[in-house]
Amino acid sequence: MYEGAVQDLIDELGRLPGIGPKSAQRIAFHLLAAEPVDVERLAATLQRVKAEVRFCRTCGNVAEAEECRICRDPRRDATVICVVEEPKDVVAVERTREFRGRYHVLGGAISPIEGIGPDDLRIRELLSRLEPDSIREVILATNPNIEGEATAMYLARLLNPLGVRVTRIASGLPVGGDLEYADEVTLGRAFAGRREMPV
Ligand SMILES: [Zn+2]
Repeated sequence: MYEGAVQDLIDELGRLPGIGPKSAQRIAFHLLAAEPVDVERLAATLQRVKAEVRFCRTCGNVAEAEECRICRDPRRDATVICVVEEPKDVVAVERTREFRGRYHVLGGAISPIEGIGPDDLRIRELLSRLEPDSIREVILATNPNIEGEATAMYLARLLNPLGVRVTRIASGLPVGGDLEYADEVTLGRAFAGRREMPV
């Protein structure tokens, strides 16, 4: 549609999640019209996030050091682990202020359609945390959709024989929804109402 660099920018923006062709075009022309200093700041921020942000070696959350802020915090209960799919879900649960334990980020959910199996998720890393940290409860807070439920079921079957209490957050959450879009009250209640997961 457009020449060279402008079309490249529209194509790159269009590859981002939630950005359709029209939005990509609108953002591209916004950037073209913007002050050079603003565009440079955006470009520098993009480069900095890739250079500086990594994933916590313990829980898989985003971190700016070897371990994330939550894993380094001695006031957080290290005997309870909340398992979530993505770092953005950590933020969603933190917003509820219901949870004072630690997290484990799987990096996705089991999805046969997308070819994602248990080996593609950080499940081995989760198992390796159970023994040394003497975990007494694992809360499964994967998304309340088909993939999230399948992942929770898989983990419950895996963890139950190991003698750790396995709970699933209650739904009160919209089925088919996404943790990050739930309001604090709904997600907070879902947390408070968690129960043993039947296997
Ligand atoms: Zn961490």
